[in-house]
Amino acid sequence: MNIVLLGAPGAGKGTQAEKMIEAWGLPHISTGDILRKAVADGTPLGIQAKQFMDAGELVPDVVVIGLVKSRLDEPDAEKGFILDGFPRTDGQAEALDHELGAADRAIDAAISIDVDRDVIVRRLTSRRTCRSCGKIYSLIADPPADPNVCDACGGELYQRDDDTEATVRNRLAVYDRSTAPLVEYYRSKGVLHVIDGDRPVDEVFADVRRIVEG
Ligand code: AMP
Repeated sequence: MNIVLLGAPGAGKGTQAEKMIEAWGLPHISTGDILRKAVADGTPLGIQAKQFMDAGELVPDVVVIGLVKSRLDEPDAEKGFILDGFPRTDGQAEALDHELGAADRAIDAAISIDVDRDVIVRRLTSRRTCRSCGKIYSLIADPPADPNVCDACGGELYQRDDDTEATVRNRLAVYDRSTAPLVEYYRSKGVLHVIDGDRPVDEVFADVRRIVEG
């Protein structure tokens, strides 16, 4: 199954993707994660991407499309994939369809996770991520015993540079301008499913399961 997760930053795409990997073992392709790793490793791609990411702006299409194309060519993506944070523009969506179409493949489901803006701002500014194992916490909904230490592995918890309030507001404005129209793009292709993301993680996942397992 080839799945696209849509939804504003902070809607819970990464959290649902983790549960989907556990349930179905599909590879999780998160352009945000790939770019953050490139920034942390100081690669030329990371150096180029960092200025856009810190400002909450989109990294240019040509860069991100190239990344996803090469990731989709890896053997594990043949059985299906979960795309998280891609596509984010019309150009990316069209490039993705073109790439998949050339291999006689297509997106089977685009799952859009809907959450109110105020909830998102609260969620993102309270989000913490483990530097070692990548586990995501909310200091409000799912607080670790110590706000600086991962319960799972003891690693250091950090706040993403782009999760400060001013950057979050800009990321939401960018989402409205560039990414929200993709909901209509996938609706017109007959593969869109909209779910309410302002509920406990397992309830949201029950909806995802119904969509994926039909
Ligand atoms: P995310 O973790 O998906 O919220 O992505 C974090 C940041 O990485 C975004 O604010 C963008 O700067 C950049 N980014 C991630 N995915 C894309 C994409 N598909 N197109 C452009 N920029 C992206």
